[in-house]
Amino acid sequence: MIENWAGNLTYGAREIVAPRTLAEAQELVAHATRVKALGSRHSFNTVADSPDGLQLDLSAVNRTPEIGAAKVAIGGATRYGDVVAQLHEAGYALANLASLPHITVAGSVATGTHGSGQRLPGLAAAVSAVELLTADGSLRTFSRADAEFPGVVVNVGALGVLTRLTLDLEPTFSVRQDVFDALPWSAALAHFDEIQAAGYSVSLFTNWARDVVDQVLLKNRVPAEIPDALFGALPADGPRHPAHAAGISAENTTVQGGVPGPWYARLPHFRLEFAPSVGAELQSEYFVPRAHAAAAFEALRSIGDRIAPLLVVSEIRTVAGDEPWLSPAYDGDRVAVHFTWQQRQPEVEAVLPLIEEKLAPFGVRAHWGKLFHGAVLDLDHQGVRQFRELAAELDPAGKFRNPFLERHLLR
Ligand SMILES: Cc1cc2nc3c(=O)[nH]c(=O)nc-3n(C[C@H](O)[C@H](O)[C@H](O)COP(=O)(O)OP(=O)(O)OC[C@H]3O[C@@H](n4cnc5c(N)ncnc54)[C@H](O)[C@@H]3O)c2cc1C
Repeated sequence: MIENWAGNLTYGAREIVAPRTLAEAQELVAHATRVKALGSRHSFNTVADSPDGLQLDLSAVNRTPEIGAAKVAIGGATRYGDVVAQLHEAGYALANLASLPHITVAGSVATGTHGSGQRLPGLAAAVSAVELLTADGSLRTFSRADAEFPGVVVNVGALGVLTRLTLDLEPTFSVRQDVFDALPWSAALAHFDEIQAAGYSVSLFTNWARDVVDQVLLKNRVPAEIPDALFGALPADGPRHPAHAAGISAENTTVQGGVPGPWYARLPHFRLEFAPSVGAELQSEYFVPRAHAAAAFEALRSIGDRIAPLLVVSEIRTVAGDEPWLSPAYDGDRVAVHFTWQQRQPEVEAVLPLIEEKLAPFGVRAHWGKLFHGAVLDLDHQGVRQFRELAAELDPAGKFRNPFLERHLLR
């Protein structure tokens, strides 16, 4: 029996098996009744569970990255943090990363994991081809030209096991991080677009109950012009953990204060050699169309007194619209509102329906790897319908299904 990273759930799988070769993985899948790939277990819900079935740990398969001209082929269980320095040494970069490098590439793209940046889509956008181990044990490859491709990358583990992924690279670049304290909410609402345009990647940190957004974090490719002030917010006088206002020290954060560094050491908020975030926590995240950002923030501020007592910190980011059918940003740019909760799950689960009700008028979607309730989410759009058809075709017996997927997606 094994827990997820946050320790808020124990998987119900009968066994976790770590095949030593691809052929062994194929055998295991071919003969299993219920099976799912398991990444680094950073999801907060049961999306990766396989009750009474198998979970596959693929960390021994395809261990060596193959770096080619502006692309890299890696095994699905590779963590971003395992490969980023090597890419930089070879003169390359990924366009974006999530807040932490500890997560596997396949597990991340499977749930639509993203960073921030109004021109930057989720991490799945870098994937140009995949090798998928399907229900009968055979391997299939899909690349961008294939009609099914928008279904196979953000796949919530429902189509098979991603054994190998090819990612687009660009020439390596440097990034600086600058933090601004105390942005008045009135300015955040009036100037949200300009604030997003002030960085390659921008995050706002808030608890929804104060009159100010506690911090704005700008990540910019260098060289960059950094303003002296940001609509009333002033440069921080030292490093800031995202949850600085909750009293958390900045020990595990990447270098800020405008010091340039390689992309992989600045785009994540947290350093690989430390535990990320705060540890004893839960997370939720909701996505609304970018055009409704200000209205969505007002809706959340109206229930700030219900959110703040359970919160560690909330983070606002933007994600560019992209193609994958299950992407939270399928069919257009989205603003992403993330909640790092205290580990008080019954109380958090009681407030999620209220948050979802408030955001429902905007066509809200949820992060596939975080906690959500689900009753009023936009879970039945065209992309989802196409995905259901693909899942039925690739996994007719439902080998890769689990109760989470049956409740929210494959119903
Ligand atoms: C501290 C912290 C910070 C986070 N920050 C961010 C962030 O900045 N942005 C964001 O969007 N999310 C963030 N997340 C959420 C996280 O990115 C997702 O939960 C992601 O799915 C975790 O990847 P994993 O490797 O742990 O996958 P797991 O949780 O192990 O699995 C997730 C899903 O992927 C599937 N899967 C795993 N491997 C494979 C494979 N080889 N083939 C097919 N399917 C597979 C699983 O079956 C499951 O359905 C954060 C989570 C934590 C704990």
